Amino acid sequence: MATYIPELAKADPEWFGICLVTAGGQVYEAGDTRQAFTIQSISKPFVYVLALEDNSRGEVLSKVGVEPTGDAFNAISLEPVTGRPRNPMINAGAIASAGLVAGKNPGIRWNRVLEMLSAFAGEALVMDQTVYRSESETGHRNRAIGHMLRNFGILSEDPDPVVDQYFRQCSVSVTCRHLAVMAATLANRGINPLTHRRAIRGEYVESVLGVMGSCGMYDYAGEWLYRVGMPAKSGVAGGVIAVLPGQLGIGVFSPRLDLRGNSGRGLAVCDDLSRDFDLHLFNNPHEVRSVIRLSFTALDVTSSRARSEPELEILERHARGIRVYQLQGHLTFSSVEVVVGHLVRDSSHGEASILDLKHVVGINECACRLLHDLVLCLDSIGHPVVFTHVARFPHLRRVMKGRMPDRFERLFHSVEDLDRALEWCEDLVLMREHPSGKAEVGAELCDFPLLAGLTAEQQTRVRELLRRRSFRTGELFLLVRGQVVISLPIQGEHPRRLGSFGPGMVFGEMALLDQSPRSAMVTAETDVDCDLLTREDFDRLGTIHPEIQILLLRNLALLLSAKLRKANHQIGAMDT
Ligand code: GLN
Repeated sequence: MATYIPELAKADPEWFGICLVTAGGQVYEAGDTRQAFTIQSISKPFVYVLALEDNSRGEVLSKVGVEPTGDAFNAISLEPVTGRPRNPMINAGAIASAGLVAGKNPGIRWNRVLEMLSAFAGEALVMDQTVYRSESETGHRNRAIGHMLRNFGILSEDPDPVVDQYFRQCSVSVTCRHLAVMAATLANRGINPLTHRRAIRGEYVESVLGVMGSCGMYDYAGEWLYRVGMPAKSGVAGGVIAVLPGQLGIGVFSPRLDLRGNSGRGLAVCDDLSRDFDLHLFNNPHEVRSVIRLSFTALDVTSSRARSEPELEILERHARGIRVYQLQGHLTFSSVEVVVGHLVRDSSHGEASILDLKHVVGINECACRLLHDLVLCLDSIGHPVVFTHVARFPHLRRVMKGRMPDRFERLFHSVEDLDRALEWCEDLVLMREHPSGKAEVGAELCDFPLLAGLTAEQQTRVRELLRRRSFRTGELFLLVRGQVVISLPIQGEHPRRLGSFGPGMVFGEMALLDQSPRSAMVTAETDVDCDLLTREDFDRLGTIHPEIQILLLRNLALLLSAKLRKANHQIGAMDT
């Protein structure tokens, strides 16, 4: 056991704990996982994070390198000429990192260090006073390193408070379970999987894991990466952490050390776990080709929209060109690359493609960009891409919009689900094949399958019973009886409910005034009676009784301004 810090020699050599915490927050522990001991050098990567947060990357790199040394942890190894420590995992580099923590005075700086370690552990950690005193009384070598760093200008002020802060950080009391949670927080891109609080910004995680991977185990770092294959860090009190990015963190505690100052059983446990559970980082089991769960055409699966005979005939001929790709898992560079390959190949003889994101669990930034480029590229050959279930991935919409603000509305097609996507693509084919669709022309009674098999005379009987009701844009509705709900259709999401109206209220006033299409949707919730005022009648009123029209317009303006006030109020309330 470490004896150069006298207090550490008092540990029980038989203590042995193993804890594994997954990025999903599952904790597995065995042995002395609740035994307290001091964190020692395992504090180094976490304080390096603080240095990165408080300074630009260039500043940090000018004070501490990131090259493995192959030297012992306490080697006084500084680069010739510059005096820059080679990496933040050896003592010299850790003391230099401690000097980069921002704060007006040593007390504030130390509190920030303790808070950072606590955020990673998910609990308020405290310092072990006895170990701190013991190390402070005997830490001449580290003090010497501090003065060397001051000599080379790596530390810009009195080195003693910085070395003191370093002794304190090493003396923070933790358990093996804390260590595993801290490691899992690094595995989980900086978010503590138990508290769900962010401990550091995700962008620093890869830097810290980078130095842990190459330098974390000192002069054993090379063999460690070769055998175990996980970024790791050890401390002389017997703790070890190992991180498998995206998956899990391991904490092991056993005080007996090997000659390099790494916990002997700590190394053996990680070695075994890595082999037994295939955890080596360079043995990535991620199979990107499985990103396409299922692929089929709109001939195999049609939308639930009822179609007429002539429409069905058209679809029979063209639906083969509508292809659905059901994607699954995480969309990253490699998996989206597979998707892009398929779409580019299939689009050359197709009508449209549907990317069904229902089973996708995550899309990273790079995948969003590639999908954007794909949409743009396929649009140039007249091939639209429709996305489903986008509501779960708001950043996909954001990236798309950010990269093509002018074309976003036209090119980014997103609908709630696969059924809507199929319907959208079928409509597209029908429009292409039959540009003057039934919607505008209107159907003859004999076109209705409802009347199939009826003679002309029988059809006439039926026609006599029918009463036509027309609904036109630009009509003002005066709600006389019943209740309606106003909602806003949002592309790719459920409509947002804006409110409901009862008798005495009017709707449709915006379209009456500006003659543009409806902006919201009105649904009858009960039986409803409305009186209608058409645009033509409203105009006629203007010529015959202009004074009445003026009064109506004034009232409409009042109603609209009341609505605008309410909306303004809500926007204001949501901003605070
Ligand atoms: N506090 C110890 C020292 O500076 C930390 C060293 C270690 O854990 N490897 O010597």
